[in-house]
Amino acid sequence: MRQWVRWGAAALSAGLVIAACAKVPYTNRTIGSAVPATSLFQLGATTYAEMLSEAPIERGTEDARRLAEVGQRIAAVVDRPNYAWEFTLVRDETVNAWCLPGGYIAFYTGILPALQNEAGMAFVMGHEVGHAVANHSGERMTAQLGVTGSLAVVDALVSQSAKVNAQQRALLVGALGLGAELGALLPFSRAHEKEADVIGMMTMAEAGYAPKQALTVWARMQAMSGGSAPPAFLSTHPSHQARIDNLEEWLPQARKRYQRAPQVEGAATALW
Ligand SMILES: [Zn+2]
Repeated sequence: MRQWVRWGAAALSAGLVIAACAKVPYTNRTIGSAVPATSLFQLGATTYAEMLSEAPIERGTEDARRLAEVGQRIAAVVDRPNYAWEFTLVRDETVNAWCLPGGYIAFYTGILPALQNEAGMAFVMGHEVGHAVANHSGERMTAQLGVTGSLAVVDALVSQSAKVNAQQRALLVGALGLGAELGALLPFSRAHEKEADVIGMMTMAEAGYAPKQALTVWARMQAMSGGSAPPAFLSTHPSHQARIDNLEEWLPQARKRYQRAPQVEGAATALW
């Protein structure tokens, strides 16, 4: 029982410290996470290595090079030197992209036709970077811990034990909605998706990509879904209309940022 009190106190104090100082860029929302970022980042690194260990990774190709370049541009805008920022292109026809805490990002080649050009890639990159810098995984884990009452996991994370066990990883994967590959699927909340869209649009604009392209990416995604089974990237995301309305609301502000930015040449040239 005493241990439970200690775990609870650790979670609470970590939560208070983080909540007191962390704000989401652009939306200014206060982040509510009880899981320390350093622990989450460690978990992100381990899980990334594991998820990619057997994946067919595209190395040295034009697409892989472009992905890294776009990633670096978006990362420069958010300016978080404590993030690892790794960008991996996986040869897989699934229409998907994802990010683990600490800035570990993967794109599947199947999403490229929906992106169509570098600006489209920059938007989805900004969206994934948005999930990372807004600490959505920390919030989701905190919420899930509340549901399961599994504070032992928080304790393991707080103590930063070198080994991440299966239960912790399952929790992280579940919390990130990455379960399609690994067993359980929990979609991101609608609020997190909309927030990631806002950060995606703002960061692409500041990196020199026309923000209007964010809307065309979603239009293409919708067309690709063809009214039947949606692409994986969409199945865990809110309705098209809801997110298009949200993006249109932020578009004027994004345009102002774009006008002030050094614009990337050829960003709207169709590539895929
Ligand atoms: Zn998302």
